Amino acid sequence: MNGAIESLKRPAPQPTFDVERIRADFPALHQEIRGKPLVYFDNGASTQKPKVVLDTVQRYYARDYSNVHRGAHTLSERATEAFEQARAKIARFIGAGDPDEIVFVRGTTEAINLVAQSYGRSQLREGDEVLISEMEHHANIVPWQMLRDQIGIVLKVAPVNDAGELTLDAFQAQLSERTRFVALTHVSNALGTIVPVQHFIDMAHDAGARVLIDGAQAAAHVNVDVKALDCDFYAFSGHKVFGPTGIGVLYGKADLLRAMPPYQGGGEMIREVTFAKTTYADIPHKFEAGTPHIVGAIGLGAAVEYVDGIGRDAIAEYEHDLLNYATPALQSIPGLRLIGTAEHKAALLSFVMDGIHAHDIGTIVDHEGVAVRAGHHCAMPIMTRYGVIATARASLAMYNTKQEVDLLVNALYKAKELFGR
Ligand code: PLP
Repeated sequence: MNGAIESLKRPAPQPTFDVERIRADFPALHQEIRGKPLVYFDNGASTQKPKVVLDTVQRYYARDYSNVHRGAHTLSERATEAFEQARAKIARFIGAGDPDEIVFVRGTTEAINLVAQSYGRSQLREGDEVLISEMEHHANIVPWQMLRDQIGIVLKVAPVNDAGELTLDAFQAQLSERTRFVALTHVSNALGTIVPVQHFIDMAHDAGARVLIDGAQAAAHVNVDVKALDCDFYAFSGHKVFGPTGIGVLYGKADLLRAMPPYQGGGEMIREVTFAKTTYADIPHKFEAGTPHIVGAIGLGAAVEYVDGIGRDAIAEYEHDLLNYATPALQSIPGLRLIGTAEHKAALLSFVMDGIHAHDIGTIVDHEGVAVRAGHHCAMPIMTRYGVIATARASLAMYNTKQEVDLLVNALYKAKELFGR
């Protein structure tokens, strides 16, 4: 793992943020949709991929591809080395101390299910409370409901205020001596709220609970340091951090992962198998049954290195500026209502418009080349909280520009004209 240790050093961030240079790295951004330049504002669902990720994936499939860990031949050694290097890059990306604390999974959804089923089923008991917030994605609701049905935990929900913020008081009010586990989003995919998770992690730990942070919407936009946060688990998805689809990450503290039973059984995750008994491999392999998404992991390694090369502080600053530009621009459109107005927000604007269904907004702006998402964003309970069934959502990333925001605003005015208001 010498190569892995070598790559634990952080690459120096670019001295200045150059959006045109970043845009040049993303081939998909340079195309027309219905005769108009593409404005890609659906980054909350999935981001586009930089050339370095595309090239890395292509190179590994074309030249270095083989299964990992079990071959005595050169290609398998190459693939294994690259796969484990990727693990080390990801450990560095989120500030984990040890690559063994990085488990490769399909995405955030699988990571949370793994924790609910492995940690939850082994460590929690009937009557223990699991606390989530009202603005969670279904991926951080349903696994806990399934656990509730299986072992009788109690699922509690901390409400958000009208701006879409989880306050310390609202959270404290739901904590009790029975709270054993807290699972919170870092950034809300439906509202854009950046949750000050550090406070909640500290409060949960003081109450004796373990904490999982759903970082699906955070990892590409804010600096994540799991050691400084001291969270017990952190999950994110490759496809939202400019990496491949089908690969994601579960970070877990080593002692917790070691104490947890495997989630799935099969090849790769064992030490020895007889018909009488099986012993398991050490972490992280204990949780990686079967052939992993080898090239996905390698591609994700390239993606996080690319993001780190730009620097997430620089990205956060740039995106904040975009948000400050886009918020009043959208709010100036008569009849448009933003859903989610937290003081600390990612560059994500969820909105409804009088007399136009969110799906119609999505369709009309697509005719202008602008890609936004429309729907409940897999967060139905928070939609209900705001009395809407769907919103249109523009979720911006580091390669978006103010000119693109202007194009969205123009497209929304077209939608208003079409609906005669
Ligand atoms: N959590 C949040 C906050 C999300 O935004 C998403 C995806 O939109 C998920 C979890 C699930 O991610 P995935 O579908 O990659 O597993």
